Amino acid sequence: VEGVAGFYHFFHTEPLGRYRVLWSDNITDRMAGNADLMARMCKKLWLKPGRVSEDGLVSVDTTSCTGLCDQGPALLVNYRPITRMTAQRVDQIVELIRHKTPLAEWPAEFFKVEDNIRRKDALLGADFAPGDALKALKSPQEVLDSVKESGLRGRGGAGFSTGQKWDFCRAAVGTGPHAAHYVVCNADEGEPGTFKDRVLLASYAGLVFEGMTVSGYVIGARKGIVYLRGEYRYLLEPLNAVLEKRRAAKLLGKSILGRTGFDFDIEVHLGAGAYVCGEETALLESLEGKRGVPRKRPPFPVTAGYLGQPTAVNNVETLASAALIAAKGAAWYKSIGTPKSAGTKILSISGDCERPGIYEYPYGVKVSQVLADCGARDTQACQIAGASGLCVAPNEFGRRIAFEDIPTGGSFMIFDNTRDMFQVARNFAHFFVHESCGFCTPCRVGTTLLANAMDKIDEGHGGEYDINDIWRVIRTLKTASHCGLGQTAGNAVADTLQKFRPSYELRLNVRD
Ligand code: SF4
Repeated sequence: VEGVAGFYHFFHTEPLGRYRVLWSDNITDRMAGNADLMARMCKKLWLKPGRVSEDGLVSVDTTSCTGLCDQGPALLVNYRPITRMTAQRVDQIVELIRHKTPLAEWPAEFFKVEDNIRRKDALLGADFAPGDALKALKSPQEVLDSVKESGLRGRGGAGFSTGQKWDFCRAAVGTGPHAAHYVVCNADEGEPGTFKDRVLLASYAGLVFEGMTVSGYVIGARKGIVYLRGEYRYLLEPLNAVLEKRRAAKLLGKSILGRTGFDFDIEVHLGAGAYVCGEETALLESLEGKRGVPRKRPPFPVTAGYLGQPTAVNNVETLASAALIAAKGAAWYKSIGTPKSAGTKILSISGDCERPGIYEYPYGVKVSQVLADCGARDTQACQIAGASGLCVAPNEFGRRIAFEDIPTGGSFMIFDNTRDMFQVARNFAHFFVHESCGFCTPCRVGTTLLANAMDKIDEGHGGEYDINDIWRVIRTLKTASHCGLGQTAGNAVADTLQKFRPSYELRLNVRD
């Protein structure tokens, strides 16, 4: 069943416990002690990980990342987050479960989630009141020109020009009797180590919704959909409350701010915990109620997206930035960052540092500056842009976060020199086995072969042949996989093989 994205969680072959506990399996959560604490919980509940108790009371399992890496060890109980886990808290939870205490009666402090915003810049620090962007709107063409002029690029990692995307979408014509345009906000923040969209949705939802409304105004859409990752289900109620407030203030719904013909509303749709649904076409499939598998392109979503209609899919941070551009103008935005990377980037910092959390920087900031700001010491490596991203060694700490150097969706995981980089890469290899959607053979088989080879080396049975095999598999993944997930699944292993060779060598059985 593993590898069938989304279906794994929703159509699990075993019944789920009344209390469903999910521990994060992300590497930084593991470094914080998740594995030991989960073992303690399982032992006390007389339960094996991945199983449900005989009486159906409780199940304990892992999920790839809960998006709480800055306050780990963390877990979800029936999709409600509990952070800063300790052995004592594990024992308390076990007792509450044994006594079948309803979740509503658990101590409120268990469910406290922190924003941990450590550095604000143009976006997080903006002086912005609800409606500011909508009041400043000129004609759709003028707003589009302004977004293009600002140089705003997608913040999910790919960096495509937002203005161009909106332009293509606006020019496309819907088909059939229900022809329409759609705005989709990609809040499927599944990349291990990324949690900045969680903070934006928890504390800046109005800004994100205003960006969606601006997008709808430009492309001619009347409906926007937020695709919220399953692990953020606890944000659904607060997000709906913000939407209700905006409707009451005439910032959503019919005739927004009294303008006839300017109708736009937003609904929130829940994902099912599949990483691949962060890929925009897999997300659209999932939105349509189908299995989350990436589509063939072309056609691109801007011409045939949700229900086959022109659709602009944008990241949470991109839409929040678009709202500010509409309110404050292109020149203001363009003056921040570098010539090729306008504006700011929000980083989610976790791992070996004193102050993990959210840091917003103008594009162009050096890796070394980020490390100094968050109190990282004796850093051996940073994994930037998540499991599929780039592993940066100390001789590269002078490089910059920018589209022209290191592009990132926001994940920034730090490993000090006590960490074993082989185990970091092995964790990522297993992550991709779990998250491959299984549609194409190179990825479905390749990710498993890669993880198997890493396990073999870990057990001390690996030799030169396995290293050569790893390179062959990585090449196949890169060149033959159907989507970006498979194409980048070998990046972490390739990077660590090149930059942290001794961590592999000490495990290899090499004949003299
Ligand atoms: Fe699915 Fe293939 Fe993409 Fe892997 S590369 S996630 S198997 S479509």
